[in-house]
Amino acid sequence: MTGERPGLPDTSDLRGSVLTPSDEGYEAARGIFNDRLAGHPAMIVRCADAADVRRALRWARAEGLEVSVRGGGHGLGGWASNDDGLVVDLTRMRRVLVDPGTRTAWIGGGARAGDVVSEAARHGLVPVTGVTPSVGMGGLATGAGEGYLTPLHGYASDNVLEFEVVTASGDTVQASATQRPDLYWALRGAGPNFGVVTAMRIRLHPLPEQVIGGSLTFTTADIPRATRNSWELMEHGSPFSFPQTMYARGGDGSPTVTVFPGHTGPSGVAAREIGALRAGTDPVDDTAATTYAGLLHQLDPDGDVEDEGGSRHLWDCFHLPFEGARGEQVDLVLSLLPSFGPNTMMELWPTRPAEIVGSESVIPRSRGVTLVVLGMWTDPADDAREIGIVERISDTLRSSGLVRESPSASNHVTVYTVNRVRDLYGADDFARLQRLKSLYDPDNVFRNCYNVPPGS
Ligand SMILES: Cc1cc2nc3c(=O)[nH]c(=O)nc-3n(C[C@H](O)[C@H](O)[C@H](O)COP(=O)(O)OP(=O)(O)OC[C@H]3O[C@@H](n4cnc5c(N)ncnc54)[C@H](O)[C@@H]3O)c2cc1C
Repeated sequence: MTGERPGLPDTSDLRGSVLTPSDEGYEAARGIFNDRLAGHPAMIVRCADAADVRRALRWARAEGLEVSVRGGGHGLGGWASNDDGLVVDLTRMRRVLVDPGTRTAWIGGGARAGDVVSEAARHGLVPVTGVTPSVGMGGLATGAGEGYLTPLHGYASDNVLEFEVVTASGDTVQASATQRPDLYWALRGAGPNFGVVTAMRIRLHPLPEQVIGGSLTFTTADIPRATRNSWELMEHGSPFSFPQTMYARGGDGSPTVTVFPGHTGPSGVAAREIGALRAGTDPVDDTAATTYAGLLHQLDPDGDVEDEGGSRHLWDCFHLPFEGARGEQVDLVLSLLPSFGPNTMMELWPTRPAEIVGSESVIPRSRGVTLVVLGMWTDPADDAREIGIVERISDTLRSSGLVRESPSASNHVTVYTVNRVRDLYGADDFARLQRLKSLYDPDNVFRNCYNVPPGS
């Protein structure tokens, strides 16, 4: 390759830009949501379009560089970053083009949930997203993606109608129900294994007429009852209900619980279901009417910041199936609280995806409670202590026999093992994915993800 700078490819036909460690802007560009997992890539290619993505992959191949694909940078495993490799950075590819007539939108591979929500809202429409605005639709809609609208409209992946993908061979291909249906099946749930999604056409829905956000904060004594109330609603509530239950430790060391009702249904249903969350308890009630965008920002007020970072995290996600013994599951959750440190949190939310007719995909569809154990701190010197706390809680969960080893959705895989991924998809779908992987990415270029290795 002939470059103006030694070690750099010829960038004259690139519409975006290349950043290497000596460039101004490199430090900010290498940042991802989780500082602990932000590596030092040799080259960050800030792509402007699909042709730039093809060039970046060509350079990686020519130089033998490991590839990471960065969408919104919120991946729990830190796969959008690497050390000494190349990052295909999609943060400049955030265009959103709404077609109100067909209630669809074409969105760029780097678009964030908040980008799509604000553009769709101008037309009275809404996409299925996660619960915060800054997560990338790239990672979300290729790995299931659940949030407030999932019980009503399915996963974010269920709502992708068409993908434009640059594959490992450098070809741009389309995948939909009628074009490469096998690839379409795999992209919705195992997407990052198969290429770089440069654009997607997604389905939009009418904006809910009423949205209730805010929170209910319970006393320590009310924690068991609040947990049981919330579990009942997660399992049997209307499809408008998506309560998130958040546990932490207060300043005096006692456990705290806050429930965010996240309700998108008619006022009568909302009043009844939020009433059910309060039953038999006396919480501080800060619930209030808001908009869908307001709901997304309540857990992530700075959600429009482009390059986040600054905090270190360890997440571990588990699935507690509804068919399990609820009493034992609730007792298990409550038994974990005394092990929390000041920086430990735990969150429960319902995994109850609507069945979408004609939406065959590799996403597992088991229903239950998603449980996330999370450590969040800032000082690298605290890594060992904070990681130890989360790992001990995770070990207790695993050895309980009440949770599944893998989470219910692929984008919730945080710590990769091939067994976890096989367990997540099930043996038959995993084998089908391996065969497709051999076809589309035989050299496993796209391995920085919840990887399905090629196989026959
Ligand atoms: C604060 C926070 C809140 C979250 N909330 C939710 C939630 O409400 N619901 C939910 O379901 N999940 C949630 N998640 C998990 C999140 O959906 C996943 O981590 C998701 O994969 C992040 O996508 P991203 O594009 O932001 O991340 P990235 O780190 O950029 O990407 C994640 C993975 O997807 C791949 N990828 C990203 N874009 C593309 C693309 N265009 N083409 C091909 N591969 C791509 C990457 O290579 C990587 O392997 C949350 C995570 C965080 C940190």
